[in-house]
This record gives sequence, structure tokens and C-alpha cells, in this order.
Amino acid sequence: MNQPTNPPAPINFHANVRRVVANPALRASFRGAMDFLMAKRAVQFPDPEAFEALRTQGEQIRQHALSRLPELLEQLETSLARNGIQVHWAETPEQACQLIIDLATRAGGDLVVKGKSMVSEEIELNHALEAVGIAALESDMGEYIVQLAGEKPSHIIMPAIHKTKEEIARLFADKVPGVDYTDSVDELIQIGRRVLREKFRDTRIGLSGVNIAVAETGTLCLVENEGNGRMCTTVPEVHIAITGIEKVVAKLEHVPPLLTLLTRSATGQAATTYFNWISGPRREGELDGPREVHLVLLDNGRSGAYADARLRATLQCIRCGACMNHCPVYARIGGHAYGTTYPGPIGKLVSPHMLGLDVTADLVTASSLCGACGEVCPVKIPIPDLLLQLRQQSQGHAAAPLLPGAGSGRKALQTISYGLFAWLYSRPAFYRLFSLCATRLRALTPSKQGAWTLSRTALRPAPRSLHERMKSRSEA
Ligand code: SF4
Repeated sequence: MNQPTNPPAPINFHANVRRVVANPALRASFRGAMDFLMAKRAVQFPDPEAFEALRTQGEQIRQHALSRLPELLEQLETSLARNGIQVHWAETPEQACQLIIDLATRAGGDLVVKGKSMVSEEIELNHALEAVGIAALESDMGEYIVQLAGEKPSHIIMPAIHKTKEEIARLFADKVPGVDYTDSVDELIQIGRRVLREKFRDTRIGLSGVNIAVAETGTLCLVENEGNGRMCTTVPEVHIAITGIEKVVAKLEHVPPLLTLLTRSATGQAATTYFNWISGPRREGELDGPREVHLVLLDNGRSGAYADARLRATLQCIRCGACMNHCPVYARIGGHAYGTTYPGPIGKLVSPHMLGLDVTADLVTASSLCGACGEVCPVKIPIPDLLLQLRQQSQGHAAAPLLPGAGSGRKALQTISYGLFAWLYSRPAFYRLFSLCATRLRALTPSKQGAWTLSRTALRPAPRSLHERMKSRSEA
């Protein structure tokens, strides 16, 4: 299992939450955005039975791929090699960054233009490139905005969803040379496009993520709405794709159901504007396309999740973001409060594999367990059940704690109190004696009631006549 070279400090989730809940504008902005996304998604799934059937199909496709993951990854490598795509394996973020640095250096480039890739965020690629003098430029508009602001994405699909158009207008005016303040969304998009198009012309290296990799054909599928993904994968001389090892499916026919689920769940679109099938570098006689295509396959804790029969389900994820949009916790605090690349319900499941439970112990408790995430997940990941399992592992209760940091969430006081209670509860005579003493000692508790107790209204039994009416109706 992968262990980080320098284990990061535990995430101070509670302090992060206190900071964001004290910002009413941010909360209102997230609430509005999540309501909008939920409404768009609901329109795309009007028939609950059809949705359920599609979810089942999506779940089966992902489970089938995971059940054959080692074999499919080998097949994918063979198929990609046949198509002229070079495959590189990285166990850790450090290895993945080094591979990309080496490829960029060999290509002679000092600028990497990136399409949207959460895996590149996961490995902190921009920092690694900049540390060796290679600039990284985000070309997805949301990513470009957060990069200009020096922030991280707050949502896996909409990285800058926490920003208002006025904040973006101020940012462009401050950071983009020669730009005056405008809060016209169309003008802001045109400004971004102008800057990025010039960069596409100048760079030798484009980098992208991958939504689905098809083992039988060696095809990399990439969905997007802005055309920047197509530019990154076709204009530069070298295209480097990066993805997690779980993104593979067996057959081409498995792609359409997953795509239907992905785009409808993510942005409420029946289909995205661009769908890229990448099947190799430029061929003899072709006028455009990259001369080299590389795929970096990243583990970073995924094989640890794979080894646990139940947590393996986290690898079914198609990164649609619907669980975040429907999560009452995420909708109030936004993505930055989680302090991880992947926020929200899915982030709480995958981050412990990447960073360790000792770093993410607070995250697994940040759920009301209302079940909304599990209900909307297009591939039926049982998110609430898995959160409970991670909570147990965090407390050191699970039978086989495979995760790094398992048991770290347990405090000394908890261990002593639960141990004492277990001892007492398993001895009926002592337990009865304890109950008797506790009942007697109740007389010593303060007689004055606190504000919380006084604010509560005790449940009163329903009027007898109502009981009788209901009884007679149920018997009728
Ligand atoms: S867990 Fe399900 S709902 Fe959440 S991002 Fe993954 S696929 Fe989408």
C-alpha cells in the first residue's frame, strides 16, 4: 500500500467549517448553485423507473470492470501500445509528477497547457512543474479562474462555483494584463478565451484527464463543454493524459450508458458539447494531432481501496459530483472546508485512501447520514454505509483495518469510557447496582433547567379520541 513520503498534517476541518459558516455570502452562493444543479439534474431523469434501470446498468458496468481490474489494466496497456500510446505507471503522486516532468523536459517545453483533470490536482502537478521551472496553465475556464485567484477547486465539476461574477470580474481586472473591469459573463469568457488561445499556439505540451479508458480498443474518452480539452489533446506536439487506475472499462459498448449517467448527473445535460475519443498520435499523412500521446496511470491508494471488498465500491465513482450537489453538509460549507482535492461525500470516501485516516479523521464524521448522496449516485455507491465503515475503521473497530491511520480517530477518554461501559454492561448484577446508584444520584443534579431543556417541548400523547378514530379507520 502506498504511504505518503511526508505524511500531511491532519485536516483542521472544524476550524475550516467555522470560517465558512461565518460567511453568509459564500453560503448563499453555494446554496443557490446547488439548488440550480439539482433542478437541472432532476429534469434529465423524469422517470424514476427508467433512472433506476440506468443506474443498475451503470453499477453493473463499473462492478464488472472492477472485478477484472488487474486483467483489464494489462489489456488496456496492450491496446494502447498497439495504438501508439505510451503507458506509464505511477504508484505515488511524486512518481506521477516526476514522470510528467521528464516527459515535458524531453519535449523541450517550458509550458504545459492543461485541460481539466482532478487527478492532476490530486498529485499537485502545478506546484511540481513550477518547482522545476515549467509553467502550468489551466485552460478550463473554472480552473483558470481558481488558478488566477491562487485557490483550489471547490467542486470537482465546477471548480469556481464559489465565486460570484463580480469577484471574477475584479480578479480579471487585477490579474490579466490590459483588462478593464466588466461583470458581463460573455465578455469575461471572451477574455479568458483570448488569453488561452494564444497559449495553445505557443505550447508543445498539452495535458488532460480521462473520463473512461476502454480496454478492448485502447481508447481514451474525455467529455467537456468548452473545447479546451480538444485543443489540449490535438494542438500541442505532445499530449499527456493522466487518470486513476479505476477508470478502465472492458468494452466500447460500456461507454454510452456511463456517459449518459455522467453528463445528466453532473451538469444536467443530455450530452456535453464535446466528446473526445483519443485513439493514438497523429498518423502518417494526417495534418494535425499530437506526435506523441502518453497515459499516466496513477494508483495513490486506489489499490488499498481495491483490497477491501466493501470499500472497493468507492472505485465505481465516475466523478459526476451529484453526491456533493445533494449533500446538506457540502451545500452549507462548500468544497474548500474539506481541505482535500475531492470534497463532499465522495471525497470523504476516497481521501482516506489517498491521505490516511489519521489526516482525514474528522471528514468521515461530517455527514448527517441522510442518505441523499447514496440515492442520487448514478452508479449506486452505498456512500452512507461506507462512511459508517470508515468511521469504524477510524475508531479502530473494523476487523481488517487496511487503511493507513486506522484507529487514529479514537481518543484515550473514549477508549476508557467505552471499555468501562462494556465491562459494566456485560455484568448484570453490577449494571443493576450502577443503575440504582445513578438513579439515586440524580437528586444531586442542578434543579435549574438549562436553556436547551427549557426550549424543548415534550411530546404529549395524542388525544384518546384521535387514537380511537385512527383505530376505527384502520379496522374499517
Ligand atoms: S460517488 Fe456517485 S454521485 Fe458522487 S461523484 Fe461519484 S459517481 Fe457521482
